[in-house]
Amino acid sequence: MIKENLKQVEEKIEASCEKAERNKKDVTLIAVSKTKPIPMLEEAYEYGCRHFGENKVQELVDKYEVMPKDIKWHMIGHLQRNKVKYIVDKVYLIHSVDSVRLAEEISKEAVKKNVTVNILVEVNVAEEESKFGTTLQNAEELVRAISILPGISIKGLMTIAPYVENPEDNRQYFVKLRQLSVDIMHKNIDNVSMDVLSMGMTGDYQVAVEEGATYVRVGTGIFGERNYGAAVL
Ligand SMILES: *Cc1c(COP(=O)(O)O)cnc(C)c1O
Repeated sequence: MIKENLKQVEEKIEASCEKAERNKKDVTLIAVSKTKPIPMLEEAYEYGCRHFGENKVQELVDKYEVMPKDIKWHMIGHLQRNKVKYIVDKVYLIHSVDSVRLAEEISKEAVKKNVTVNILVEVNVAEEESKFGTTLQNAEELVRAISILPGISIKGLMTIAPYVENPEDNRQYFVKLRQLSVDIMHKNIDNVSMDVLSMGMTGDYQVAVEEGATYVRVGTGIFGERNYGAAVL
């Protein structure tokens, strides 16, 4: 089932790329495996997935230990400063940096472990109270403040769009994030690239691809519904 789902998601990404006249190589699917057991990740790996997304530090570390080492792990969830030290040398990309304080902690641990950590700045484009992320207005200032920290490399921006019935309702937010990334790119800030746009989930990734997403983060559409009640990981 997972392999069929993956095939379907890939086909839909391809269709959206065609529609938007984009190269499908410019869009990478992240299999969001949070709450899901190892055998399910293995099935996705067998199919060819090498990018996995997790939102909890402990779970990411546990899965990192047992899964093949060529996997690129994406930290997509809110990150507490006291847990940064466990993942800086394990993650390929942290999508959820939304404060200078968090970035300073990542920088400190990166320097200690002699690594460079790739990060995205999370923007709460829709300004939902329940969500983390900086605002559209403050994003450039935050990017500038983070850009001077050692051991960190800013690769782009990430947003989590609202939960909606009709994915078209989220198009406006994807457009805004892309516009912001172009604006910031034109500022030519040292140590900042805006190559990455992480946007789109199961409900809206096709619209996100049409609007320029380079990473889409799909969980339910690959692994099925999550059951948060079942196991505390
Ligand atoms: C859980 C999660 C996803 C995947 O959500 P689905 O709707 O299951 O595809 C994507 N991004 C973030 C940040 C998440 O926490």
